[in-house]
Amino acid sequence: MAASHRNISSAEIRAAVEHAYEKLRDTTGGKNADYIPYLANVDPKLFGISACLPDGNVISVGDADVTFGMESVSKVPTAILAMREYGALGVLDKVGADATGLPFNSIMALLLEKDRPSSPLVNAGAIAACSLVEPVGDADGKWKAIVDNITELTGTKPEVIQELYASESATDFNNRSIAWLLKDYGRIYDDPEMSLDLYTRQCSLGTTARDLAVMAATIANDGFNPVTDKQVFDPELAPKVTSMITTVGFYERTGDWLYKSGLPAKSGVGGGVLGVMPGMFGIAAFSPPLDEAGNSVKAQLALMQIMDELGLNIFAASRLCVCG
Ligand code: GLN
Repeated sequence: MAASHRNISSAEIRAAVEHAYEKLRDTTGGKNADYIPYLANVDPKLFGISACLPDGNVISVGDADVTFGMESVSKVPTAILAMREYGALGVLDKVGADATGLPFNSIMALLLEKDRPSSPLVNAGAIAACSLVEPVGDADGKWKAIVDNITELTGTKPEVIQELYASESATDFNNRSIAWLLKDYGRIYDDPEMSLDLYTRQCSLGTTARDLAVMAATIANDGFNPVTDKQVFDPELAPKVTSMITTVGFYERTGDWLYKSGLPAKSGVGGGVLGVMPGMFGIAAFSPPLDEAGNSVKAQLALMQIMDELGLNIFAASRLCVCG
């Protein structure tokens, strides 16, 4: 069949979101993260999906307003913040924008590529990104900048889930090793313990599928938040952020994910996944049980199902047209 360009209506997107929810609500599989004690005890049946369109319309089903740990999805806003402060090339130079092909917390990845921590979307690069945030040397000022940036991207001020923060801080030995290795390699740009703590705190922020969908829509919309009607970041940064999400959003499973879904997406071990369809919509799904790589099983199924029903794929030229 010849490829053709077609517009997709918000009614079609709503139907696809609702169909995915209905189809998958009783699906089981995967296991809550258990290396962070708090996450092991979250209700595994929670399931929500949200999509945010360029007109600011948010379509939500299920537990889309239930708060959960942002975890590694928080790497996306702080990568954006570092880009806002240092420029796209500054972040490329200081952190990198590469795939690792290895788990999110891999020390091996850093040993192999010690010139740079690869990407702000893996633990090493995210800790380095936290170290870059201005004002350097001022933990309170940096934390405010991190939270303010997320607030601008989602339209909602996030709060730390204190129990999660305590739980992560008590068990973050691997990440502490990464922070000090970065120091050894000259790839951390502020105090290592402070940078690690900022990273741990941002992972412990509460979020919802709805907030993540708005953040994703802001990225999909060239930095313009369609809900608050504010230009949050320079439009030129949007494809850079999306390229990072595309490259390493699912860690060692990123290629498999992209191949199956055609959607640039970023996961967190709290069970959230954020997806960016440039120019079209931001989408997020939440379900705590994870696969072995730390990606929510049901959120992946939901997003794949929605992309499939809409006939969308970021790599499918059928959605592009040469005019004139
Ligand atoms: N806070 C978690 C960690 O550093 C985040 C990991 C994730 O969501 N993939 O291990």
